Amino acid sequence: MTSPSAAPEAFAVHAIHFASREGLRGQHFLGHDDRSAEPHPTAYYVWLAVSGRRVVLVDAGLDPDRHVPMPGLAFHGSPVDGLAALGVAPADVTDVVLTHLHHDHTGTVARFPRARYVVQRAEADYWTGPVAARIRREHWLCAEPDVRHVLGSDRLALVDGDRELAPGLGVHRVGGHTAGMQVVRVHTVAGWVVLASDAVHFTQNLADDRPAPILHAMPDVYAAFDRVRELADAPELVVPGHDPEVTRRFPAVPGTRAHRIA
Ligand SMILES: [Zn+2]
Repeated sequence: MTSPSAAPEAFAVHAIHFASREGLRGQHFLGHDDRSAEPHPTAYYVWLAVSGRRVVLVDAGLDPDRHVPMPGLAFHGSPVDGLAALGVAPADVTDVVLTHLHHDHTGTVARFPRARYVVQRAEADYWTGPVAARIRREHWLCAEPDVRHVLGSDRLALVDGDRELAPGLGVHRVGGHTAGMQVVRVHTVAGWVVLASDAVHFTQNLADDRPAPILHAMPDVYAAFDRVRELADAPELVVPGHDPEVTRRFPAVPGTRAHRIA
């Protein structure tokens, strides 16, 4: 007789919209064309997945108290304030999953005093290795104090590939956008949701099969597009990383900057 595996717990999942930027289409769709100079509004999120036992923050956003070298960026608040509006204090957070180590995903990571930090080993190795140091563009894409804090922490959990962090929530390495880019798959009452973060900046990247220009390895970007589709129970349950459309697809929680995904 085989023992029944525990039914995965359903998580409540929210996107917290903490900043906006007036971007250009050419910054989000690789390959210049006659629409590259058109405006393309860009949103910045962290994501929260809560079950009876775990409070999982996916990415740590940007810190409004820091200088952020991005023209046209407007903060709606701190990601930490966004969590507070949902009744979550920093010490409540059990896990911070960093999908990758770009600066707009790590900014408030040091504010969570108890959380386990979940990072792919390939991501950690890349940013501390010799190649990243040589590529000028990487210098502004990565906030060194955040990386030092996370990788030097005794709360760091390095992952190789796919790992279940709790029943109903796991990480999957996809690479592509960065060396160790990972996505989060989470079980909800609506089915399996994929928090794709920058594996899919905009739903249109996926729909047009067209990557964003900031990337580490092109073939892996396409493999990541396929993987997030496989992992989600429905196309609308793939949550892109920077798409303002998320705020229209999922209902707002009154009095907060959060949208309830499921
Ligand atoms: Zn990003």
